[in-house]
Amino acid sequence: MFVPGLIERKRDGGALTAAEWRDLLGAYGAGTVPDYQLSALLMACFLKGLTREETAGLLDGMMASGSRLEFGDLGRSVIDKHSTGGVGDKVSLILAPLVAACGVAVPMMSGRGLGHTGGTLDKLESIPGFRTDLSLAQTRAQVEKIGCAMIGQTPEIAPVDKKLYALRDVTATVECVPLIAASIMSKKLAEGLNGLVLDVKQGSGAFITDAERSLTLARTMIELGEDRGCPTVALLTAMDRPLGRACGNALEAEEAIMGLKGEGPEDLHEVTIAEAVEMLVLAGEKDRARARQRLDDALKSGKAAETFQKIIEAQGGNPAVVDDPALLPQAEAVEVYYARSAGTILRVEPRAIGRAVVEMGGGRRKVDDVVDPTVGFVITARPGQKVHTSEPLASIFARDAAGIDLARRALDAAIEIGEGKASPLPLISARVTARGVEQLTGR
Ligand code: URA
Repeated sequence: MFVPGLIERKRDGGALTAAEWRDLLGAYGAGTVPDYQLSALLMACFLKGLTREETAGLLDGMMASGSRLEFGDLGRSVIDKHSTGGVGDKVSLILAPLVAACGVAVPMMSGRGLGHTGGTLDKLESIPGFRTDLSLAQTRAQVEKIGCAMIGQTPEIAPVDKKLYALRDVTATVECVPLIAASIMSKKLAEGLNGLVLDVKQGSGAFITDAERSLTLARTMIELGEDRGCPTVALLTAMDRPLGRACGNALEAEEAIMGLKGEGPEDLHEVTIAEAVEMLVLAGEKDRARARQRLDDALKSGKAAETFQKIIEAQGGNPAVVDDPALLPQAEAVEVYYARSAGTILRVEPRAIGRAVVEMGGGRRKVDDVVDPTVGFVITARPGQKVHTSEPLASIFARDAAGIDLARRALDAAIEIGEGKASPLPLISARVTARGVEQLTGR
C-alpha cells in the first residue's frame, strides 16, 4: 500500500475503495502507518467529503479493527439509542432501564463529556461505586441476566475509531458529517443490535448547530445502519436550551431518578418517552399507543426504577441512591440565582451553561482531568416564561465561592430577559427514517 498515493487521490477529489480503507485502517491500527499520514488524509476527507461507499468503507474498516457483541439466541430484541449530545441530556439514564423493564435487551454504550456537552458515563459514575468499564463478556452476561448494561467504549470495540477520534480532535477534523457518522455507527453497530434510535440534537447547544447539516448527519447514520441490517430511526430534538432542569453530573443523575419515578420535568419525560416508543416499535411492538401504555406501566409500577437499581448493583454502585438520591455526592456551596430584571425569558443558552459546568470542574479540559460530580445548575427558567425582578430562576451548585461567582456570571450571560417573544425550537421536530422525514412540529 502506497499511502501518499491514497492521500493524493483524496486531496484531488477522488475516492478510496472499501478494500483500500480496510487495508489502510488495518495498517494504522497495527501501527505501521504513522499519525501524520492519517492526519493529512483526514484533512483531505474534511475538505473533499466522502461518498456513501467510502463512508461505509471507513465504517467497516473501523469495525473490523475490533470485536462485536454477539447475543446469539437471547429471545429478545437488542436495541440501543445514541444521542449526538447536549446540555442537561440525561435521557439515557431513564431510557435504558425503562426500555429494559419492558422486555427489550439494551446494551447501552455511551461516551464521556465532550466540549460543552455532558456524557452519560460521567453522570453514571457520580453514583458512588458505579463502574462503566465492563468487558464485552461481562456486558453480554449482564444483558442476559437483567436486560441491560450501561458501559463505555471497551478497548475491544472499534479501537481504530478511538485512535482516529483522538487524531481528529487535535487536527481540526472533528466537525465532518461522514467522519462523525462512521465514528458513531462503528461503535453502535458493534453492539450486535436489531435496531437503533438516534437523537440528533438541533440548535445552538448541539454538536452540529446547522439544521441542514444535522439532518444530513441523521440521514448518513440511518443509511449506514440500514445498509448493515440494523433498522435505524432518528428523532430531531431541541438543544437551543438545556433539556430538563439539572446540568451537572450528580444533579442530572438525581433528576433522572426523579424521571424514573414519573416525577421529572415534562420536556425530559416527553423526549424519553418518544425515544422509548421508537425502541419498542423497533423491538416489534406494532401499536404506538400500546407502546406508550407499556412504558407508562413500567414507570408507575416501579419496575423501571427497580431495573435501574439492578443495573447499579450489578455494576458495583450503591442502589440505595434510587430511594434516597441524597446519597449522591453533594456540593459544598449552593446559592439561588434571581432574575436581574422583569420581562420574558427569551433564551437560556445551553452552550454557556455547558461551558460553565466544565469550568466549575464538572467536565474535562484535558482527557485526564478528574470530574467533580457535585457541581452544576438546576435551572427552572424556561424560554417564554414571564418573570419579575428577583424571582428565583436557578440554583448554583459549586465547590466554593469562586465557583459560585463564575456560575453567576455564566447565568447572567446565558439567561436573556427582555420584552420580545421567545421562539424556542419545537422539542421534537421530526422523525427521520430510510423512507424520509416526517415533520412532527406541534407535538
Ligand atoms: N462522537 C463520536 O463518537 N464520534 C464523533 O466523531 C463525534 C462524536
